[in-house]
Amino acid sequence: MSLPVGENIYAVPRQTSLIDYDTYKLIMTATGIPYKSIETCSMDLRNIDGMMKADERVILIEKARHYFSTHLRQVLSLGVKIKSVDHTNHSVTVNGEKFDYMIDATWGHFSPIQIETFFEPTLLLYFEAEEGLPAVTFVDGPLYSIYPTEEKTIYTLSSVPHTPLGRYRSIDEARSVRDNADKSLIEMKLDLMTQQALENVPNFRDQYKFLGPQLSIKTKPVGNSDDRSCYVGKSGRIFTVMSGKIDTIFFATERILSMIEADHGDVPRDVPSSLLTTIRAKATEIGISVR
Ligand SMILES: Cc1cc2nc3c(=O)[nH]c(=O)nc-3n(C[C@H](O)[C@H](O)[C@H](O)COP(=O)(O)OP(=O)(O)OC[C@H]3O[C@@H](n4cnc5c(N)ncnc54)[C@H](O)[C@@H]3O)c2cc1C
Repeated sequence: MSLPVGENIYAVPRQTSLIDYDTYKLIMTATGIPYKSIETCSMDLRNIDGMMKADERVILIEKARHYFSTHLRQVLSLGVKIKSVDHTNHSVTVNGEKFDYMIDATWGHFSPIQIETFFEPTLLLYFEAEEGLPAVTFVDGPLYSIYPTEEKTIYTLSSVPHTPLGRYRSIDEARSVRDNADKSLIEMKLDLMTQQALENVPNFRDQYKFLGPQLSIKTKPVGNSDDRSCYVGKSGRIFTVMSGKIDTIFFATERILSMIEADHGDVPRDVPSSLLTTIRAKATEIGISVR
């Protein structure tokens, strides 16, 4: 459900990066992620201190949608609005149907997350260009990225300063900003993001033809650390997941399974343990009064 990106570049611009290429290389080496420094790539880039190639994959979203909706069709209900959730010590009843547990993976859109978060409406731009152009991420700091999608001739342009459309404590405010993004806002952002791309990709206007916007909302933890970790909260039989990045699904799965295991390790107060039953039986047998 993913494909390798043929040419995946991390480029450090000379003036606009917060760090120089040697420092970036040190950080990459420390992570243990394999990379190769390169002198040139198949795109004409300007004002670059240095660049590297690293393996990365692009997710085939439509294929994944099709795969999971086919394989899970017996247990999957799509497009169902959650109207009621009733919660007891033993079960969760969702829209009148009883379950052992509920996992809310809406990133705080439905039930609140147990850490302090804010909502950030976002705007990505889609462009059409020839097939096989590289993915280029300009690092590090308030920079941008040109990235292929599962459609061979469609690319996204995202920008650290221009993609966010604000920060909101309430989801309703964030939704309203996302839903009211109009032509003038998109044209203004297109201009800003194109200007930014032209700093390093002088042929950007000729190579990439604007197709349209993608509007969405990110949920992020409050703080300056740019934290993208995965958080799993639990309240009784309801889990809330804030997944960070897509690969953290594996972490969330482990956390949820271990929390469920811990639940089952707990001996409910109204059910005597086998040890307690044995002790009571023995006490009764020898005539000791027990509680
Ligand atoms: C601009 C942008 C760029 C990103 N880039 C990357 C990236 O490069 N790499 C990466 O790994 N991640 C990236 N992300 C994060 C990415 O969104 C997640 O990794 C991925 O979508 C997580 O999938 P998910 O299923 O956890 O959440 P989502 O895809 O957000 O799914 C949440 C679901 O909950 C549903 N929902 C919401 N409210 C309710 C409700 N009340 N009742 C029922 N359902 C509800 C929504 O309809 C949605 O389908 C990016 C996000 C944005 C916005």
